[in-house]
Amino acid sequence: MAAVGTPENPLRVAIIGSGPSGFYTVSNLLKQSDLSVEMDMFDRLPTPYGLVRAGVAPDHQKDKSVTRAYEKSAAHPGFRFFGNVEYGTHIHMDDLKAHYHQVMFTTGSPFDRNLGIPGEDLEGSHSATEFVAWYNGHPDFADLKFDLTQESVAVVGMGNVAMDVARILCKTTEELAVTDIAEHALEALKASQVKNVYILGRRGPAQAAFTPPEIKEMGEFEDADVVVMESEAALDAASQQALEASGDKNAQKNVDTVQEYASRSLTGKKRQLHIRFLVSPSELEGEGGRVTACKLVKNKLVEESGSIKAVATSEEEVIPAGLVFRSVGYRGKPLPDVPFNDSWGTIANEGGRVVDASGAQAIGLYTAGWIKRGPSGVIGTNKTCAQETVNLMIEDLAAGRHFEPTQSRDALADLVLSRQPDAITFAEWKKIDDEEVARGEAKGKPRVKFTQVAEMVAVARS
Ligand code: NAP
Repeated sequence: MAAVGTPENPLRVAIIGSGPSGFYTVSNLLKQSDLSVEMDMFDRLPTPYGLVRAGVAPDHQKDKSVTRAYEKSAAHPGFRFFGNVEYGTHIHMDDLKAHYHQVMFTTGSPFDRNLGIPGEDLEGSHSATEFVAWYNGHPDFADLKFDLTQESVAVVGMGNVAMDVARILCKTTEELAVTDIAEHALEALKASQVKNVYILGRRGPAQAAFTPPEIKEMGEFEDADVVVMESEAALDAASQQALEASGDKNAQKNVDTVQEYASRSLTGKKRQLHIRFLVSPSELEGEGGRVTACKLVKNKLVEESGSIKAVATSEEEVIPAGLVFRSVGYRGKPLPDVPFNDSWGTIANEGGRVVDASGAQAIGLYTAGWIKRGPSGVIGTNKTCAQETVNLMIEDLAAGRHFEPTQSRDALADLVLSRQPDAITFAEWKKIDDEEVARGEAKGKPRVKFTQVAEMVAVARS
């Protein structure tokens, strides 16, 4: 038999998860000179692109243009897409071993982290994950309801996801109507009574996790004023010193923007976005099972082993909050037969090679993206992350460390169809895509998304 990776015996790779790191795995494999490769990508949804479709905010269309590069990868004759096919339900580890030399897991971090405070389970307290997936039309979340009759909303955390959530709550219907926000979300937001949105950061502006363009946008709403307290925008001595020593230009830009906001006066806009620093929610208060307020403890910053940490003081404050979104990071979901590092919330791995409990390499298994390194970085970060893993896959291929598949490519397609007759090919996804874009054109939007799997399958089969 010819060597694996030659035209007579191409390397066969399964990729579980069709988000950015899945597609960067494809492009990185295609870049390898002298490698013949066949790749099958599986996704539990009929639609590809993971968080580019269901996470990136609808008013950030430019960020979604990366899918053009993913489409180019998908056009390679060695690539197949199996949408609506779930690992662990329709396809299992034994199947993968029988059909592929190597398997890449790029399943992201779908679970949110909790705050671990009393009242977190009250009605009206949600994860940002749910809200983001809802306004982006993810089929699993499309039927959720958020009580937008509330006047005050708290968003806990100061990363870019918190910025996205606050932005969607602060924008006008007109600002949102030209995006690809899900129709159900636009309708609900049209009736929104929200007047005050509080973003709650436990540390100061120099430590905030948002990035400069995202915090800049917060000062540019058509009908919402940004409010920052001067006392919270000012840097303490330790933060000032650390900022100067680090030379971190982004952190400096963040601080400058926040301090400029602190100098602004209210202009009478309909909503107010309060960006609060040095506060941690200690309890969600409620009435009749519903959240009504958020008790905050004020923090001071202390330097500890080279980093600046928030330490609670005895000072407390209560802000009204009829809706609360926690946005304090994500966790990966454990997958059947794949070693998991519970404390990190990632697949157990070293540089992308999956390892077992003893630290030994699990031959043939790899990972990239958030499920490999945790929920950090921007879309492009996944390119280098996938590259790192693909380099190891190539190294292992050369060393003969891979599965020995016994079944053909055609047999895999037959197996999938026998278990999931509604599996979606890439050509079928393109039909869904074209239809969404056509529906959008009629309304002056980038697209109008389908939000139910059955609808998507019907369009794909039409
Ligand atoms: P993130 O950037 O890691 O931010 C998490 C935030 O939660 C931080 O402010 C953190 O504060 C805070 N936090 C954590 N535990 C907390 C607790 N117990 N109480 C209060 N606050 C707590 O996470 P993310 O916003 O979910 O974003 C994930 C990744 O996606 C990031 O890399 C982000 O940049 C990226 N993303 C990018 C874009 C974009 O490019 N436009 C959009 C969305 C997401 P500390 O700093 O004090 O820990």
